[in-house]
Amino acid sequence: MTSNKQPEVNIGLVGHVDHGKTTLVQALSGEWTDQHSEEMKRGISIRLGYADATFRRCPEAEEPEAFTVDEHCDDHDVDTDHLRTVSFVDAPGHETLMATMLSGAAIMDGAVLVISATEPVPQAQTEEHLSALDIIGIDNIVIAQNKVDLVDEERAMQNYEQIQEFVEGTVAEGAPVVPISAGQEANIDLLIEAVQSEIPTPERDPDEDARMMVARSFDINRPGTTWDDLMGGVLGGSLVGGQLDVDDEIELRPGREVEEGGKTEWQPVTTTVRSLQSGGDFVDTVTPGGLLGVGTGLDPAITKGDALAGQVAGPPGSLPPVHETFTMDVDLLERIVGDDGGEVDEISTGEPLMLTIGTATTVGSVTSARDDECEVALKRPVCAASGSKIAINRRVGARWRLIGVGTLR
Ligand code: GDP
Ligand code: MG
Repeated sequence: MTSNKQPEVNIGLVGHVDHGKTTLVQALSGEWTDQHSEEMKRGISIRLGYADATFRRCPEAEEPEAFTVDEHCDDHDVDTDHLRTVSFVDAPGHETLMATMLSGAAIMDGAVLVISATEPVPQAQTEEHLSALDIIGIDNIVIAQNKVDLVDEERAMQNYEQIQEFVEGTVAEGAPVVPISAGQEANIDLLIEAVQSEIPTPERDPDEDARMMVARSFDINRPGTTWDDLMGGVLGGSLVGGQLDVDDEIELRPGREVEEGGKTEWQPVTTTVRSLQSGGDFVDTVTPGGLLGVGTGLDPAITKGDALAGQVAGPPGSLPPVHETFTMDVDLLERIVGDDGGEVDEISTGEPLMLTIGTATTVGSVTSARDDECEVALKRPVCAASGSKIAINRRVGARWRLIGVGTLR
C-alpha cells in the first residue's frame, strides 16, 4: 500500500525471532521490510527496516471493525477516511547485538511487542527487548499475542496469563494484549484500535531546532560517475525534533576525523540540505516521524559506507557537545537478561564496554569506576546532551550483553 502522507510517529516492532514481526508489518503496510532491494531502490537502506502504514477508518462501520489499512470498505462500499500514517521500525530479532535494537529505540515513540502464543513466555529476546524498552523509557506499548490461529483457546488463555505475569512490574505492565494472527490477518482492526489509543503522536514544537539522528550514510553514485553528474552524500535517519527544509544549512557532529601533523582531531562538518525524502516521496519540508533521507552537498567520500552513522545533525551552533571521554551515572541490572543470564558484576577499571547513545555505538574503556558512576574513554567520540541515556553492554563469552543503563553527566 502506498500513500503520499508523511509518517508522523515511529513505532518499534520488537520481540523474539520468528514470533511474527515482519509478517505483522506486512499485514499492516503491504510492505516486506526484509526486502533489501526495495529499500535500495529508495536510495536509503537501513539495518533497521522501516515500513510505513496508513491507518484508516470506515465511516459506515462500527468500531473496532471500522479500523483498517484498506482504502475501500467492501462491506459498506465506501472509501475509508485517513487517520494517520505511522512508521514501523522492524528490529531484526536474529541480531545478536542489542545495539541495533537500542539505536532503533532512540527514535521510537512507542512499541508493539510481538509474542507468539505457541511458545512459553518469555523467550530470550522477548525479555531482552522488553528490558531495552524499560531502559530507554518507552512506555507506550501494545502487546500483540500472535499466531493464535495455531493454538486452541485453552493454550491461548494460558499464554495470555504468562504474558501478564511476565510484564508485571515492567514498563509494559497494564499494556493491552491483543490476540491476533498476523499470518491470517485476523484482529488487525483491534490492534490498530489499541495502537491508536496507546501510542499517540507526540506533540511537536516546530520552532525547536531541527535534530536529526543519523543512522546511516551513503555514497549513491555508481563507480565512474563523472564530476558533473556526481550526487552529494546522503544521510539516512530520523528527525527527533524541529523541522528541516530544503536549502537549510546543517552541521554534523562529531563530524570527520582530520589528521594534522600526526595529530588526529574531530571537526564538525557543515553542509546544505539539497533534497529530502520521507514516506517514499521527495518533499520540501519534514517534521519528525518515519525514515528520512537527506541529500547533502557533502563530498560523497565523507558519507560513504556509513562513515557518519551515529552522528547528530542540526542548525550550525545548535548541537550538543562532543565527548571523547565522559562520566555517567550507572544503574546496573541485577541479572543479565536471556537464557543463560548470570548475575551482573560491578564494572571494573580497564574493562571495555560497548555503549549505545542515540544512534551511536562506540566502545569505551573504563578509566575509573565506582559503585554508581563510571568514567570512560571512547574509541570514537559522540555528540550527546547531558542527561542522555546510555545502554551499557559488556562482553560475556562471544557476545555483548546488556548489563545496565547510564545517564550522561
Ligand atoms: P520475525 O522473525 O519476528 O520477523 O517473524 P516472521 O514475521 O518472519 O515470521 C516467522 C514465521 O512465522 C514465518 O514463517 C511466518 O509465516 C510465520 N507466522 C507469522 N505470523 C503468523 C501467524 O499469525 N500465524 C501463523 N500460522 N504463522 C505466522
Ligand atoms: Mg523479521
